[in-house]
Amino acid sequence: MGTSRCSPGKSDRQHNRRCVGGRVHAVREASAEVFGTIAAGKPPAVQPLSFLFSGTATGLATGSIEPNGARPELTLIKRWHFDAVIAFLAALSVEAYFTLPRERLRSCPRCGWLFLDTSRGGKRRWCSMQTCGNREKVSRHREHI
Ligand SMILES: [Zn+2]
Repeated sequence: MGTSRCSPGKSDRQHNRRCVGGRVHAVREASAEVFGTIAAGKPPAVQPLSFLFSGTATGLATGSIEPNGARPELTLIKRWHFDAVIAFLAALSVEAYFTLPRERLRSCPRCGWLFLDTSRGGKRRWCSMQTCGNREKVSRHREHI
């Protein structure tokens, strides 16, 4: 997939682990960039989006992932195959790109994590009230002392 620095055919186990880690990281970074820009109300950059689409397409073309019957989701077929896992992760992001309610996608102003605001009023601010919400309250309280 795309920008991987791995060379196919290398069988060294440690190299493969590093290689897979780098590719998982690349999918994660592309996903974070796509959904981060959407949460900011901007259109996603084409490069990370095409990286995710390309990974999904490769997984479909190689039979690593396939449609789950008539459902609008993809299934991981080659479970112990690294390329299949990478393709599946990319496919999950592509699926989320088309199915997540964009108007409810938020970025926590304290930690930067992305979350889906499922509150009734749609005014949730923090990724978690137990962590970032409480830390913000504590910070504000200290400012007033
Ligand atoms: Zn947070």
